[in-house]
Order: sequence, then structure tokens, then C-alpha cells
Amino acid sequence: MASSDNHPDFDAVVVGAGFAGLGMLRRLREEHGMSVQVYETGAGVGGTWYWNRYPGARCDSESYIYCFSFSQELLQDWNWSGKYPEQPEILSYLNHVADRFDLRRNIQFNTRVTSARFREDINLWEVQTDQNNRVTSQFLITGIGCISSGNVPSIKGLDSFEGEWYHTGRWPHEKVEFSGKRVAVIGTGSSGIQSIPVIARQAEHLTVFQRTPQYTIPARHDTVDRKFLEDVVKPNYDEIFEQARWSTGGFPVNRDERSALQVTAAERLEAYEAGWAEGGIRFLSTSFKDIGTDRRANDTMAEFIRKKIREIVADPETTEKLMPTDHPFGSKRPLIDTDYFATYNQENVELVDIRHSPIQEITPDGIRTEDQQFQFDMIVFATGFDAMTGTYLRMDIRGRNDLSLQDKWSEGPKTYLGLQTAEFPNLFMITGPGSPSVLSNMPVSIEQHIDWIAGLLQYVREHDIKSVEAHVDAEAAWVSHVNEVAEPTMYMLADSWYLGANIPGKPRVFMPYVGGVGTYREKCNEIADNGYEGFILA
Ligand SMILES: Cc1cc2nc3c(=O)[nH]c(=O)nc-3n(C[C@H](O)[C@H](O)[C@H](O)COP(=O)(O)OP(=O)(O)OC[C@H]3O[C@@H](n4cnc5c(N)ncnc54)[C@H](O)[C@@H]3O)c2cc1C
Repeated sequence: MASSDNHPDFDAVVVGAGFAGLGMLRRLREEHGMSVQVYETGAGVGGTWYWNRYPGARCDSESYIYCFSFSQELLQDWNWSGKYPEQPEILSYLNHVADRFDLRRNIQFNTRVTSARFREDINLWEVQTDQNNRVTSQFLITGIGCISSGNVPSIKGLDSFEGEWYHTGRWPHEKVEFSGKRVAVIGTGSSGIQSIPVIARQAEHLTVFQRTPQYTIPARHDTVDRKFLEDVVKPNYDEIFEQARWSTGGFPVNRDERSALQVTAAERLEAYEAGWAEGGIRFLSTSFKDIGTDRRANDTMAEFIRKKIREIVADPETTEKLMPTDHPFGSKRPLIDTDYFATYNQENVELVDIRHSPIQEITPDGIRTEDQQFQFDMIVFATGFDAMTGTYLRMDIRGRNDLSLQDKWSEGPKTYLGLQTAEFPNLFMITGPGSPSVLSNMPVSIEQHIDWIAGLLQYVREHDIKSVEAHVDAEAAWVSHVNEVAEPTMYMLADSWYLGANIPGKPRVFMPYVGGVGTYREKCNEIADNGYEGFILA
């Protein structure tokens, strides 16, 4: 039922119950006394970690920093078991958060928001769901995730396939049995890299269809170092998070301030070997300062990884196929693996290069490429997501003058700070395009947006403001700035999902903000301190 006057049903409707939605709900309800309704498509909380249940699904951020920081008690009480938490552990953490802060009572599960319309006559959002809810709210806040809409490529014949098929991002809740089966995995992004070694250990035969050879760094996964957690992390959590908040990538690490080109070859090798031995995202995040900006510096690291691949993989033909030479290291989502390259030494694993011999069609019993026909019992699509904008555009969101977000973003997303888009008053996006989001340790970025939005809503209430809207000039300036900072980086030299290159027809625009988490935070704070410069407060 929608209100007929301008008294909304809720102060805020929040879409999504992952990190973003849960954190936003708690903040607005507990600290600002607002009435909040959350809608979530899934049957439970967790977002990414509710949906991505594929074998090997794991976080690449170390567990002690992949969590909320708003409650010191929560930080102290929760004990991670894995250095890099696996999907079930993160899901159980988020369930714990939901229970501990009594969040479920404001969440309606199994409910997808299908449309949201800004009603100019009453200055409210009218939100519609697939469960026939129609409610109004003053604010609409999206916590819908940057990589939450799976991308199954449209390949001729998929409907005719007689075996089982799955997308990693919508994995069944029941156990999927691989033993005795001939399995295909299509895609070698993060989900592929994580799942391939696990599937290879169980399947009778595994065929990997690779379009892009990847650089990937050994995770060196382990159980959590209890002593490190108790002696170093827990007593210093405030400082650790503060360092992460002002860092480039949302991790409490310091980059090597030297240039890769100014040290000797021996010093460089020593640094790379140390990073490789330690493993994980630190290999990139603590590396020389110019890896992301200077192709020659980047080449030194890329060649180091290629040498490692040559050392690990036995078969020369497979090694050649695995060699990443077409894009700089770090220009695509950094990958962290456990035994990925070594998996290709297993007798039951085969690699097919679909860049040179593309998939033609899926047949009732398998896959046909230009060169060959393969028989499979199961196909796993590890083909990623329609990132950053896909989930927005799957809803029908309309702002002033019935302008749809689809039309507004037809040439790529346009936002001010990744937080708002002009003509859509009182709509706030958590980690929207134009914010550091996917280039960072996301809980740190999510909490920054939650804090900033909550601060603005408090300001709005205190000043009796009815609507907040990004000014179109501020938005245009921000979009230019986002492009300008991305332009000289390695990111522009790869066909990545950051650029929308994985989705046919998607505008090719670099979507996240590469300026760094700390710089971005500073800009957001400055804007708030200047009376929310660039926003129209009416
Ligand atoms: C496999 C994988 C590994 C990752 N590893 C890392 C990592 O190592 N480090 C890191 O920082 N980040 C990682 N991420 C990114 C991860 O998405 C974020 O860290 C974080 O979980 C995002 O939380 P969120 O709440 O913003 O979005 P999500 O967790 O994506 O939650 C969004 C929720 O919104 C719901 N939703 C969307 N549309 C609607 C609608 N119309 N109506 C109702 N509900 C809707 C979805 O169902 C979903 O539950 C990874 C992501 C994936 C997929």
C-alpha cells in the first residue's frame, strides 16, 4: 500500500542485505532512530556470500580486515578460523551480525525490488517489489552490490544441454557432485581460479575453457595465526582500521615507495620473491609504487610471474596457453589462488584456449569449439558478473520527469562520488560506480559510505531539508575526474569487467574510482565540511 500524502511508510528503504544493507540498516535504526525497511532477493542475509557457494569460494582479503569495524565488542568477540575466510565462514559471520544486532525484523527476504519511482508530487520514493509490496520512503538506499548480477554468456544451444549446468554466482545450496563426471569450467577469472583446483580433485575429467590467460598469486592460505590475531590485531584494531581507511586499497599495508626501475635487478627479484613467498594480495598492494602506472615497471613484475608459471607447469603447450602477455599485471581484478597452475599437471585436466578456437555452440552432450567437439556431464559458468551497473539496470528506477536510470546511464554510469546521480533525489548508492568500491577491501569502503550517508541524513533532518540531489555540474566534474585518474593507469590496457568489456554492448567506461580509498575519503569529508558542496539541498 502506498501513502496517499507525503507521510512515507518508512524513512528509508534499503535494497540488499549483504554487508552494505546490514550495516546501513543498523546505523539508521540504532543511531538515528529512523524507520527502515530492507528488501532482499535471497532467502537469507549475506549477499555475495549467500549466493557464491561454489567449491573453493573464498575471500582474498585477510579475514581480520574483512569485517565491520563499527563495534569494538564484535571485533573482539568474533574469531576467524581461516587466514582467508571461506564462503561458509563469512556467511556465518554475517548471520551472527544480523542476530547480534537484531536486524532480521526489518528485512523482508525472498523479495526483489522491481521498480522505484520518485514521486515529485509527494517528494517520496515509491518502491515496488515482486511480492506486491508498494511502499513509500523519503530515502532510497541501494546496497545491491557491485558484483551481484551473474553473467551467463549467451551461447547458442545452452537450452539443449542435457547435463547439469551452474553459474558460480548462483550456486545451489545442495552439494553438487563432481565425482565420476566430465566437467567443463568456462572462465578463468577469480571464481574460475578458485574453483578449478577443487573441482579437478573430484571430477573424473575437467576441461577448462580459457579466454584470458591470467596472472595469479599463491594465496598461501592457512588457518588463522592465533598469536598474530590475539597479540597484534585485537589490541590494535582501531589503529589497523584507521590505517586501512586512509590507504590506497583499504588494507592496512604500506606500499614500497621505491620505483621498480630505480632498484637493481637483484633487489627487485628479492622483493618479488619475498612477496611471492608471503602470497596473497600483499604481493601487489605492498609492491613498488609504479607497478600500476608505468608499463616498464609493470613488465618486471609480469615477467616474474610468467617465469613462475613456466616453473610450475610441466607441459610446454599448456604453459604457452597459460602465459599472460596481452595485458599488464594488475590491470584486471588481482587473482589469488591455491594450486591453480599446478592443477594443469594433473592427468585429468585439460586446457582449451577459446580465444583462438572460440566456442561455437553448446550441444545436448557438450560443447563444440571451432576445432573440436567435447562431451560433458556438467558445465560450470565461471563467467563473472555484469558488474557495477548490471544490478541497478535490472530494476526500473525512475527519477524526476520519469527519467529512467537506463536512459540516464545509457552511455555509462554518471554519478557524483558514486553516491548519487543527478535527477534522482534522495537516492543514495553504497559503493556505486565512481567510488573506489571493487578496487578496495570492500567492507572498509562500504562503512565509509554508510557513515557518510548517515551523516548527510542527520544533517538533512537537523536542517529540515526535504531533498538531496547531486548537482549536474558536480556530477559531470566527478565523472571527468574519475576518467582522468584512470587514464594513465594500467587499468586502461586490459579488457576487464571494470570497463564493462565482458558484457557485449555495454558502454566501455572505466567504472570504479582509482584515486584510492584514502584520497576519496578526504574528498568526501571536504565536501561534507563545505556544507555538502555539489549537492542541492532543498
Ligand atoms: C566470489 C567473490 C569474491 C569476493 N572477494 C572479495 C574480497 O576478497 N575482498 C573484497 O573486499 N571483496 C570481495 N568481493 C566483493 C564482495 O561483493 C564485497 O566484499 C561485499 O560482499 C559486497 O557487499 P554488498 O552488501 O555491497 O553487496 P552484496 O554482497 O553483493 O549484496 C547485495 C545484495 O543485494 C541483493 N539485491 C540486489 N538487487 C536486489 C533487488 N532488486 N531487490 C532486492 N535485493 C537485491 C542481492 O540479492 C544481494 O544479496 C568478492 C565478491 C565475489 C563475488
